[in-house]
Amino acid sequence: MPTFDLIILGAGPAGSAAAVTARQAGLSVAVIDKAVFPRAKLCGGFFTGRAEGYYRDIFQRPLDPQMFQPREKIVFYLDGTPLGDASDTLPMYLTMRWDMDAHLFDLAVQAGAADFSGHRVAALDLAARSVVLDGGTTLWYQSLIGADGVQSMVARALFGQSFDKTKIGFALEVEAPPQAENAVVRIDFDAASWGYGWQFPKRASTTIGIGGLQSQNSDIQARLATYRTRLGDDSPARVKGHFLPFGNYRRVPGRGAVLLAGDAAGFVDPITGEGIAYALQSGHMAAIAAANAIRTGQPDSAMRHYARLVRPIQRSLRLACFLRPLIFASRLRPFFRRAFANSTRVKHAYLSMLSGKVEYPQLMRLTARRLPGALWRSLRRP
Ligand SMILES: Cc1cc2nc3c(=O)[nH]c(=O)nc-3n(C[C@H](O)[C@H](O)[C@H](O)COP(=O)(O)OP(=O)(O)OC[C@H]3O[C@@H](n4cnc5c(N)ncnc54)[C@H](O)[C@@H]3O)c2cc1C
Repeated sequence: MPTFDLIILGAGPAGSAAAVTARQAGLSVAVIDKAVFPRAKLCGGFFTGRAEGYYRDIFQRPLDPQMFQPREKIVFYLDGTPLGDASDTLPMYLTMRWDMDAHLFDLAVQAGAADFSGHRVAALDLAARSVVLDGGTTLWYQSLIGADGVQSMVARALFGQSFDKTKIGFALEVEAPPQAENAVVRIDFDAASWGYGWQFPKRASTTIGIGGLQSQNSDIQARLATYRTRLGDDSPARVKGHFLPFGNYRRVPGRGAVLLAGDAAGFVDPITGEGIAYALQSGHMAAIAAANAIRTGQPDSAMRHYARLVRPIQRSLRLACFLRPLIFASRLRPFFRRAFANSTRVKHAYLSMLSGKVEYPQLMRLTARRLPGALWRSLRRP
């Protein structure tokens, strides 16, 4: 019977990061994905400095500039008006998930993970520690990582549902024609409610999208149409949609020997929508937790190890949830507009956070020091 130390369900960034880490720790690993790579994944492909740091640590190589195109400037807009740009907090990159995920999966297979791509899971038996594939093959594991995205079947098997429908985010995107070489990365804070719009010019296309809390954007199709008109895009590009965890991360991302990583655990920044970095980081941590548990002959202790490791991610997400009304609440919009437009420091803080130079605990301390005075000044001005 094919038995593995670790089975990883899902070969996005979380799954591939977990596979490479587990192989480095000497585990036998199988990676199952319903897709054959390369495969499409709806995503802006904004790859932050934080993501780059994890990529380097986990895969132990620099970014390929052909796949990760560096970008130097972001321009922020509110109600169609520029709030100014920020360009001094490198690095940031744009990539296509079609290429990136195939590359990461390739690295996982090169590291020695058994390749079960192109297979759906017909049955998952957590009690028996087995996975039955669509062709009838049964695989057995000591530990299982659910890296199977926002609609995770592993999360459903553990907790009855993949995500909380009242708190989930939703995003729409199109791949519009490419723009001029010098086109800038653009973020529009008003394109969605409790979310934003983006225009990411890449070599072969321009990714245009909007996303936010689903409960606040029932008219998201119309909002995207308005946004595309604002950007002057009238291309016949097909509109695609996907759920996005946006503030509803799991406080307990697993149970016993079964761990959730990346979107399956809801690890997406509730302000920026960034998920690739947390997927890499949590996939890596889940593999370390599984390896520690298996090494001591107690696979069921994996969740105990993982709970300790993911605490910094959860702390950051908790603080981001706390801070996000400052950016998204309509009552605070005038304050946000003034603070963002007038302060290089605020823009710098936002980008430093994206680049991974600053984490939410530091941002929170900065905000706590400056917020009362800034709010007071903002309320006094007409
Ligand atoms: C429109 C949109 C734009 C985004 N833009 C950005 C961005 O610019 N930057 C950023 O950092 N983040 C962005 N995100 C978030 C980012 O895409 C996710 O956080 C990230 O992909 C999570 O990685 P993951 O490995 O956890 O899951 P995924 O990348 O979703 O991978 C899950 C894998 O599991 C497989 N799978 C699922 N179910 C099964 C099953 N039952 N059996 C077998 N395999 C299965 C899938 O085929 C897939 O390969 C965006 C999200 C959306 C929706």
